[in-house]
Amino acid sequence: MARKKLMAANWKMYKTPQQAQEFLRAFLPMVDGHDRDEIVICPPFVCLPAVVEALAGNYIGVGAQNLHWEKEGAYTGEVSAPMLKAVGCTHVIIGHSERRQYFGETDDTVNRKLQAALAAGLAPIVCVGEVLQERESGLTEEVLRRQTQRGLSGISGDQARTLIIAYEPVWAIGTGKTATPQIASEAHAVIRAEAAEAVGKVTADNMRILYGGSVKPENAKALMSESEIDGALVGGASLDPKSFTAIVRY
Ligand code: PEP
Repeated sequence: MARKKLMAANWKMYKTPQQAQEFLRAFLPMVDGHDRDEIVICPPFVCLPAVVEALAGNYIGVGAQNLHWEKEGAYTGEVSAPMLKAVGCTHVIIGHSERRQYFGETDDTVNRKLQAALAAGLAPIVCVGEVLQERESGLTEEVLRRQTQRGLSGISGDQARTLIIAYEPVWAIGTGKTATPQIASEAHAVIRAEAAEAVGKVTADNMRILYGGSVKPENAKALMSESEIDGALVGGASLDPKSFTAIVRY
C-alpha cells in the first residue's frame, strides 16, 4: 500500500502568534483542496493556540517542536504531552538535532518523550541523522541504526502505527547542502530496516520516513520522487508561505 506523503513545517524559534496568523492567511488559499499529501505546521509553543484556531475545520495538522516526558511536575520551562494535546496539537517533533546539539537531548530522552507522546495520542516525528564527521568516517549506518534502535526501544508495533521518522543529516540542516535523493533513499532504507527490527516489518513498511535538510522548492520534486522518501520536514523554506506551498505542491 502506498504511503501518503507528509509535508511538515518546522518553524523553529521564528514567528509570533500574529506572524503565524499572517502566514496562514496567505498559505491556506494556496493549498486549498490539496489532498495528495498531509500537511503539518510546527510553530513555537506560544503560537500553538493561534495556529490551532486558524486551522479549525481544516485537515492540516499542528505539531509542537518538543515536549517533556512527565505529565506534570516541577520542571520549570517544560511542556507536557497532555498539555499539547489539550491545546489541539496532533503531532510533536522529538529529538531534532538542534535539541540534541544544544539542549542535551539523547537517545534515552528521545525514547522517554516518544513513550509520552504516544500515550497522549500525539503522532510523534522522531528525528535521526548523522553529523558530517560521522558521515566522513563511514559511520552513518551505525549512527542511524543506533538512534533508531534506542529511540524506539520498548515500543510495540501497535503503538508505533502513528510514528513518523525524519531522516535529517545534520550536515544538511540550515546549511543549504541537501542530501542527494540517492543518499537520502539509502539512509531511509537503513532506518526502515532497523525500525522493522524494533516494531515489526508490517508497521515499519507502513511508517512514513521524511527527509529533512535544506529542502527547497528547487529540490523537492527530485527528493519526493524517491519511493523511500515519504515526505519532508522543512525548516527555513517553510517560513515563507509561497516557498512552503511550492514544496507542498512539488
Ligand atoms: C529542520 O529544521 O528540520 C530543517 C530541516 O531545517 P532546514 O530545512 O532549514 O535545513
